[in-house]
Parts: sequence; C-alpha cells; structure tokens
Amino acid sequence: MSKAAKKSAPAPMNTAPQDVAIVTTWKVACDGGEGALGHPRVWLSIPQDSGEAVCGYCDKIFRIDRDHAGDDH
Ligand SMILES: [Zn+2]
Repeated sequence: MSKAAKKSAPAPMNTAPQDVAIVTTWKVACDGGEGALGHPRVWLSIPQDSGEAVCGYCDKIFRIDRDHAGDDH
C-alpha cells in the first residue's frame, strides 16, 4: 500500500461545501454573481465574534480576514 502514493488526490477533505469568500471589510455586498445565480443585492455585516456572515439568498459565506481587515467603525 505504499507504492502508488498520489500527490494530488482530488478528495474533498474537510473543505466547506459552500462557497466561501475571504473579505477584508466588515460590511460586504452580495448579489449572487452574474447570471442565473444572481439575486437582489444585499449588504451583510460580519459579526466580530464569529467573523463570518452568510448570505440569506445564495448561502455564500463571507469570512473576514482579520489580519487585513480595516477597522471602519
Ligand atoms: Zn448572495
């Protein structure tokens, strides 16, 4: 079991099944992108404690990059 070690197995390990966007602002706008997946633009505020906000339309996750996030309060 040790001969054929695959270097780039496409196995989805613990990666989130949902689309995750890393953002650097605590307020983000989501409109679902172009085309059929689009939806009315909504603004999401990312909670400071969890650091994540989820779009209610398309379930896209916005995760703050705390190291690069600007404090716009
Ligand atoms: Zn969305």
